[in-house]
Amino acid sequence: MTNNDNRILIAGGGPIGYTAAYLLARRGIPCTLLEAGNKIFDDPRAGTIHPPTLELFATVGVTPIMLEQGYIVRNYHYRDRRAGIVADFDLGVLSDDTPYPHRVMLEQHKICAILRKLLLDQFPNTPVVLDHRVANVRQDGAGVVAEVETPQGTKTLRGRYMLGCDGGRSQVRKSMNVAFDGFTYDERFLILSTRYDFEPVGYALTNYIADPEQWCALFKVPGYDSQGMWRVVFPVDSTTPVETLYEETNVQRLIQGFHPKQGDYKVEHRNVYQVHQRVASSYRDGRMLIAGDAAHINNPLGGMGMNFGFHDVFNLVEKLARIWFEGETEDLLDQYDRQRRTVAQEYLQRQTIENKKNMENKNAAGQMRFYEELRGIVADRAKQRAYLRRVAMIDGFARAASIA
Ligand SMILES: Cc1cc2nc3c(=O)[nH]c(=O)nc-3n(C[C@H](O)[C@H](O)[C@H](O)COP(=O)(O)OP(=O)(O)OC[C@H]3O[C@@H](n4cnc5c(N)ncnc54)[C@H](O)[C@@H]3O)c2cc1C
Repeated sequence: MTNNDNRILIAGGGPIGYTAAYLLARRGIPCTLLEAGNKIFDDPRAGTIHPPTLELFATVGVTPIMLEQGYIVRNYHYRDRRAGIVADFDLGVLSDDTPYPHRVMLEQHKICAILRKLLLDQFPNTPVVLDHRVANVRQDGAGVVAEVETPQGTKTLRGRYMLGCDGGRSQVRKSMNVAFDGFTYDERFLILSTRYDFEPVGYALTNYIADPEQWCALFKVPGYDSQGMWRVVFPVDSTTPVETLYEETNVQRLIQGFHPKQGDYKVEHRNVYQVHQRVASSYRDGRMLIAGDAAHINNPLGGMGMNFGFHDVFNLVEKLARIWFEGETEDLLDQYDRQRRTVAQEYLQRQTIENKKNMENKNAAGQMRFYEELRGIVADRAKQRAYLRRVAMIDGFARAASIA
């Protein structure tokens, strides 16, 4: 292995790849980030940052920037589309559990930009290479070998480890000997963005609005000019062509349906996503590792997927540093797999599947029982704390740390 090969190759410049690169660079571990695209993608995806994630980023000085750029959300609503508020959750009850008893709403492309700037300002010699698509990875006794497609043709790059942060369709995962079992939902999710301000008409900055026919989720993010943008997520039929979904009459029907108002909504963006629930059968195959959406994908209700990916890479980089500098064995990488994959199954998958079921429950009696349960939870501080520890990802984070 030459000196230049003694590095970690990172596939993917999304939020998880940039976080991995910044954490590795801070530890003094050489890395090269390879991104297939030519920029940070700014389509509307993750926007919610949970307390354990804020605690992790505080250790590397990023949280103050997130707090400055994002919205702090202490209360969020669970609503019934027809009857209104069912439960007003107060994350403040977590004040003994975390220094950040709230969510922060900040778009994922801004998080990528924050991390990229910190990385390149503080460690300007870290290669961040755009237009480089990892096509295939193999390994030998000395390290990993990646075939990378570039505008100049295919290149072969070597490294000591390959870290796949290349999203749900991960090429690194496909190069590993692992399955990606789970399922894909029948419906897709349509996301509409509007500047119409829902706060003065009684909504919280984050709202989950249940309905047997047309549930939706509504939340506010800072938006491209930091003046505020509301996103509304609806389930839509998979067979309807995207152009039909995006038609003005359709988007007006959907938004007016849940909050009727005089005049049309001005819809700024329309995006549609296929939604899956899957976890890789292993996060490690020798010197190849995966994190973030490459390792687990889930529906966005509860805002957990990206947060889970951040928890993956903080965990993994700490272990890689112990292997790199302290001569610990690669068994630590199996512990990474055990810790993070277990909680992906026990918390991420279970909670997000449950979140969606609760939103669309067609059994009226069952839905009433669920609402009563939520009302009981918010009426009792201890119950609310226990519930919010789970949905704010505190329990899952602690559970991972407890796995040997
Ligand atoms: C509508 C929606 C709302 C969501 N809301 C939330 C939320 O509120 N909170 C939350 O925690 N999560 C949320 N998520 C999930 C979140 O968006 C993902 O978990 C997150 O993007 C995962 O980040 P990642 O870096 O692992 O992958 P990605 O963001 O997919 O980034 C992967 C990167 O790798 C690059 N790449 C792909 N293939 C290759 C290759 N072969 N070689 C090199 N580069 C490659 C891609 O170009 C991309 O830049 C939401 C998702 C959706 C769809």
